[in-house]
Amino acid sequence: MLSIEQALERCLGTVPPVSTEEVALHDAYGRILAEDVHAVSPLPPWDNSAMDGFAVRAADTADANSGDGDIDPCAEQEVSSAGGPWLDITETIPAGQVGQKTIGPGQAARIMTGAPVPEGTTAIVMREHATAAADRVQIHQAAAAGAHIRRRGEDVQAGQLVLSKGQTLSPSAVGLAASVGRSHLTVAVRPTVGIVATGDELVADGKPLGPGQIYSSNTAALVGLVRAAGAIAIDCGIAPDTLDGTRAAFERASAADLIISTGGVSVGDFDVVKDAMAELGAEMQFWKVRMKPGKPLALGIIGSTPAFGLPGNPVSAQVGFLQFVRPWIQAAMGSTEPYLPVIEAQIAHSYTKRPGRAELVRVVLQQGPDGWTVRTTGGQGSGSQTSMAAADGLMMVDVDTAEILAGDTVRVQLIRAAHRGAQVPGLPG
Ligand code: AMP
Ligand code: MG
Repeated sequence: MLSIEQALERCLGTVPPVSTEEVALHDAYGRILAEDVHAVSPLPPWDNSAMDGFAVRAADTADANSGDGDIDPCAEQEVSSAGGPWLDITETIPAGQVGQKTIGPGQAARIMTGAPVPEGTTAIVMREHATAAADRVQIHQAAAAGAHIRRRGEDVQAGQLVLSKGQTLSPSAVGLAASVGRSHLTVAVRPTVGIVATGDELVADGKPLGPGQIYSSNTAALVGLVRAAGAIAIDCGIAPDTLDGTRAAFERASAADLIISTGGVSVGDFDVVKDAMAELGAEMQFWKVRMKPGKPLALGIIGSTPAFGLPGNPVSAQVGFLQFVRPWIQAAMGSTEPYLPVIEAQIAHSYTKRPGRAELVRVVLQQGPDGWTVRTTGGQGSGSQTSMAAADGLMMVDVDTAEILAGDTVRVQLIRAAHRGAQVPGLPG
């Protein structure tokens, strides 16, 4: 039986090359970038004022003092009692305009935040440190050379790499792309994922239940997980527990880039998924993984379409998805971070398990004085959907570990990030 790591390697071995498309910036959030983005010109493009105030020659302000230090920023039209040199105002430069006059000795220009500084400027005096009267301004505080000037290229230099292929585009990354003049970006095409639920007992959401029937909650959960992983979910319905019915459902789903099914992969009398895959000529990669929950978990390739047979139990299906399907989807889009973020935390209580299988234990995270603390969500039954919904993360317990003591450091996969579709490496999601 394969370990989680071995199974993951097999999964990633079935990932096809990345396909790309161009999208407008407004559609780029959450997509995975398929190109490197360089700045053509510097940011900011010119020296500009970081404040509303006065563009001056710093040397002209050297004699300024702040008087009693009590300057009313609103009393702009009144001459302040505070002292300081007087300068002649040459012009007013709003953001979006370029000053016409060089600042000579004894001169200042009224300037707004973001406006290019005029020739001759060596500092900006904040409006709060000056008192303007008609065409003159009194400076109450000496400005150091360079004060409040944002320099051309101080954020980004011409030619600089600002966004990298494989990164997931955050809102600020999209904003940065706009700042360097892009209107479109090349991103990875979202793979399509056909979802098949198997089981005679299953009923679609909201329909009346007959005796012995349950809702196909896996379908709803997997649609969300697929979308949060960045792919397009296609509900391929519920297949009955017959070979023909299951095979027909897989055939329907095989138009997608990836097939995922739930249920029917263990050793029960009606577990026909593997047989259905075999009838379709699937090349099996594995059908069991040394993990808990989710030991019965198959991967085959039908034609050229990989097909994951996830377990039926809702928790096992979701945990199996997070371990194998999510990385597959992310890798198919060329993500440089296909895995869930993992943090270290201290466990608040002891935890024992039987050696032989790696465990992924549902846990909640809490911030303590010395970092993150975890405790389990309680019962770890693989049918307990409330414990999965409550979990912040999955504590990774090695195959051979038998006991973890209170206070031990453990590793936790953050699953909230995977539920939101965002990637927050290193931070609890
Ligand atoms: P199986 O692996 O098919 O034996 O399923 C294991 C357990 O998961 C059974 O209790 C099933 O009823 C349940 N199950 C299977 N598929 C689903 C589904 N789509 N939604 C909710 N529960 C399911
Ligand atoms: Mg079943």
